[in-house]
Amino acid sequence: MPDYKMLIGGKLVDGDSQMDVINPATEEVFATVARASERQADEAIAAAAAAFSSWAATPMAERRTKISALADAIVANSDALARALTQEQGKPLAEAQGEIAWAEGYLRHYATLEIAERTIQDDENGLIQIRRKPLGVVAGIIAWNFPLLVACWKIGPAVLAGNTIVLKPAPTTPVTALMLGELCQTIFPAGVVNIIVDANDLGGYLTADPRIAKIGFTGSTATGKKIMASAADGLKRLTLELGGNDPGIVLDDVDVRVAAQGIFNAAFLNCGQVCLAIKRAYVHDSIYDAMCDELARLAEAAVVDDGLAQGAQIGPIQNRAQYEKLQGFLERARTDGTIIAGGELIDRAGYFMRPTIVRDVTDGDQIVDEEQFGPILPVIRYSDIDDVVARANASPYGLGASVWSSDTNRALAVAERIESGSVWVNQHVAIGPHIPMAGVKSSGLGVEQAEEGLAEYTQLSVINMARGG
Ligand code: NAD
Repeated sequence: MPDYKMLIGGKLVDGDSQMDVINPATEEVFATVARASERQADEAIAAAAAAFSSWAATPMAERRTKISALADAIVANSDALARALTQEQGKPLAEAQGEIAWAEGYLRHYATLEIAERTIQDDENGLIQIRRKPLGVVAGIIAWNFPLLVACWKIGPAVLAGNTIVLKPAPTTPVTALMLGELCQTIFPAGVVNIIVDANDLGGYLTADPRIAKIGFTGSTATGKKIMASAADGLKRLTLELGGNDPGIVLDDVDVRVAAQGIFNAAFLNCGQVCLAIKRAYVHDSIYDAMCDELARLAEAAVVDDGLAQGAQIGPIQNRAQYEKLQGFLERARTDGTIIAGGELIDRAGYFMRPTIVRDVTDGDQIVDEEQFGPILPVIRYSDIDDVVARANASPYGLGASVWSSDTNRALAVAERIESGSVWVNQHVAIGPHIPMAGVKSSGLGVEQAEEGLAEYTQLSVINMARGG
């Protein structure tokens, strides 16, 4: 019997097979989970479809209460969730606790959101109203970097708007999603929330199913494109939160120590495995050496260890495939530039890599142009603002960006020229449930969070009634 079961049609069920989950800090199996067959994926979709009409008719106030109850249940189980999150994902326990607090906070905020309906006309000639209706069954498909938080990003808005959902976590991080399933089972009517696990083999099955009305996806751009193609047949609605290559642009007037700390934190949070991490730091020529030295100092001082170990600041890379991909990036970076901190794997079990700073690289080098999604930060020299804006914008991605300066007016003038969904000044990864989050270009389609994100889980419908004559 697996340690963790799936949630299908209101029941916790074993899989037609089961799967081991590896702790990336030890490379040992720490749990077994139920794994769905196509038959079970089909059952989950059928259960969600069967539950839809009565859930859609459930008053909004009751749907809000259920979402708040899920937030309460997360708090009541936060110790167990945090430990499992560290074990499956690798992040230090303090970061895991932070992710759980975030998940709670997002759910609590969703529970306050209104679905924006509007009256355009109400007079003797007629009544015109914009209504918003739920879509039906949502497929939520997510990545392995924030498995609990992003599961809540899909479940919360989908069910608040009156949809039902089949959620599929990434194959290497299914445990906290299944724990969330156990909590959902006690809160939502059968079939409203279903959680199934695959071994990277059921995503396409879900997205192709004609009973799925909408796909909420967080993951790579390559998979996002496949999903878009698969959704075309049924004209399914899509929200795609995809990859990024966020630039951090450091102007010549910063306090180097302060800016370096901010950039370091934003580049190495969750071992750099954050869609919105700083993945390229552009630093003005006049402070380039000082910034490189300070970033290297911070990288050398960082404590890399098993996330459960006291004092760990950076955990392992989440899975072997990503670890091997990053070793390729490291080797190319060694030839393209100069590694001034880190640059080596740690000789122990687990997928550990020292936080790495690479200087003297430039646009065109792999570590600058491609999304590394790991603990390697390239630092790139620039001397002209127009040139650095052009280089920042030359990426196919456009998720986040930041500008660092002690003169906020100067920084804002640069920020306005950056082509990305979020642009921060003197901070990065500053997100929240009340702040819409979108990617431009190859970083995504649609919006998550806030009223704008909630609206994407609805279908607009206009009531237009004649009066008089
Ligand atoms: P991935 O695209 O490989 O996998 C994501 C999910 O898609 C997994 O659940 C996987 O099983 C599923 N999947 C795989 N093939 C599929 C298919 N053909 N159809 C449907 N689903 C399929 O991504 P990953 O490696 O798990 O995550 C890393 C990437 O995710 C990075 O590029 C990162 O930037 C991005 N990401 C983006 C955001 C965001 O909000 N923009 C957040 C986190 C991660």
